[in-house]
Amino acid sequence: MYDPKSLKAEEFISHEEILETLDYAERNKDNVELIDQIIEKARSLKGLTHREASVLLACDIPEKIKELYDLAEQIKKDFYGNRIVMFAPLYLSNYCVNGCTYCPYHLKNKHIARKKLTQEEVRKEVIALQDMGHKRLAIEAGEDPVNNPIEYILECIDTIYSIKHKNGEIRRVNVNIAATTVENYRKLKDAGIGTYILFQETYHKESYEELHPTGPKHDYAYHTEAMDRAMDGGIDDVGLGVLFGLERYKYEFAGLLMHAEHLEAAKGVGPHTISVPRIKAADDIDPSAFANGIDDEIFAKLCALIRVSVPYTGMIISTRESQAVREKVLRLGVSQVSGGSRTSVGGYQEEERPTDTEQFDVSDQRSLDEVVRWLMDMGYIPSFCTACYREGRTGDRFMKLLKSGQIHNCCQPNALMTLKEYLMDYASEETHQVGQALIEAELDRIPKEKVRLICEDHLKKIEEGIRDFRF
Ligand code: SF4
Repeated sequence: MYDPKSLKAEEFISHEEILETLDYAERNKDNVELIDQIIEKARSLKGLTHREASVLLACDIPEKIKELYDLAEQIKKDFYGNRIVMFAPLYLSNYCVNGCTYCPYHLKNKHIARKKLTQEEVRKEVIALQDMGHKRLAIEAGEDPVNNPIEYILECIDTIYSIKHKNGEIRRVNVNIAATTVENYRKLKDAGIGTYILFQETYHKESYEELHPTGPKHDYAYHTEAMDRAMDGGIDDVGLGVLFGLERYKYEFAGLLMHAEHLEAAKGVGPHTISVPRIKAADDIDPSAFANGIDDEIFAKLCALIRVSVPYTGMIISTRESQAVREKVLRLGVSQVSGGSRTSVGGYQEEERPTDTEQFDVSDQRSLDEVVRWLMDMGYIPSFCTACYREGRTGDRFMKLLKSGQIHNCCQPNALMTLKEYLMDYASEETHQVGQALIEAELDRIPKEKVRLICEDHLKKIEEGIRDFRF
């Protein structure tokens, strides 16, 4: 039976409820009166239920889709302004005991090189990332209790936070590791992590079990209930995501929103972020072997719908996607992008992007400097800000700030100050010039005069060599 408050995976992600939702959406996809009501509700920033959003997903009336896209763009501007948060993944280890059929790190892949970073190698990777200008990382590791136990992950986090190289430092480490126990989540919390990210891969239980034939990840309930345990362990910010292409996208979309509704109902706060990965080619993975791939149009519609359905949740897109696709969905709602990414273990220390241990093929292969300049050329402010989490503005405190609209008095100046640090320390001459002009133009958009004056003062101090100001 469907119950968003239940702590049982099969009750808060009810298969029957999803099937009924898809049927309801199909029956109402041309119901203009209902569609207008749903769009009006989204316009009031109340978000949408999985049923309402599924009707919009099923609808293919061109004018209504245009209204949806316009609204997504508006909501994006109202909540996130033109700021885009920057991050990079850091692969620690590709040892894995699971059998995921879409990932080259699966146990049966005997020809991929297996690698686990030593602490000295972590140090080198982090210095390379700092030298690019990154301040926020997402660490990634396969599931392997022998090679990658929680103690190893914790040691790596400690190492990462401890490295201060020139003006560089990593100020926020997000963690993407396998589902684990409340006790381990508590240890991650105590290590000072930002968001705990875990992709559901698919919400369809039967497919999930087929796609994960072996290893601990086979347990659908344990995996699906991981976010509840993470929150019980004290982690306020959790990040959801499905791997689009594994199952039918309409099913996944309904499941994803039901998961967000569940966290809100059972834990009082929804997901901090939603990622939107699509299945990609890799070592022994051929995406065409999966029957449910989605094209760029559907992908864009999904992004717009996530934006209007959960307006307070950040949306992340990685370098899996090409520059053109990223450009399109940035407008529709994406608020975080990676740049200059290497998806192999130890990849940042190499001159050329190594592919031997890559988890997926990187479509957008530009350097961070190129990505930063590209964003600025489109009128966005690349932000290296990590302030909310460091000031304790996580979970429902962050959501309250976002809902009150006061966020612009923090995010706008923080984005400008961290961009200024980037320009001073890492940017090419051309990027520096574009960024400098952008900062001057964007200062006026800080709502409170007092905050603006302080920000101007801090910007001068950054020029004098002082770092790490934040509101
Ligand atoms: S998706 Fe994760 S758990 Fe599955 S094989 Fe890849 S690294 Fe291992």
